[in-house]
Amino acid sequence: MDKLDKQSRTIKFFRERIPAFACIPGCHDCCGPVLASSVEMARLPRKSEQEQDAALAALSCPHLGAGGCQVYEERPLVCRLFGTTPRLACPNGKRPAVMVAPALEQRVYRYFEQVRHVLV
Ligand code: SF4
Ligand code: SF4
Repeated sequence: MDKLDKQSRTIKFFRERIPAFACIPGCHDCCGPVLASSVEMARLPRKSEQEQDAALAALSCPHLGAGGCQVYEERPLVCRLFGTTPRLACPNGKRPAVMVAPALEQRVYRYFEQVRHVLV
């Protein structure tokens, strides 16, 4: 298995285990500049340098549109983790019934450290 296949499997593994929860409809208070691995980036629509610069200058994400996240199904792991752990608590009090397992959370952070991530 090559490196990218391994990363894809790891991302799938995390995606399946990070608990989902319902946000306040239309809320995007936690969206901002986020990092993603190259495997995740390859699944996102390309943004021009100007679009990326404009989003960064506004401390926003280039995939945030008027109706919220435009890449919800492919949003990066950090977006999925947000709100599922006290370390990344939702400012509006939303959360899953069962927070992310601490051991899994640690694995996700290790993945962030070990795999090169770039600004979305
Ligand atoms: S996690 Fe909280 S802040 Fe982020 S979109 Fe959902 S409700 Fe809004
Ligand atoms: S990818 Fe989507 S959920 Fe993540 S910060 Fe950007 S707009 Fe928000």
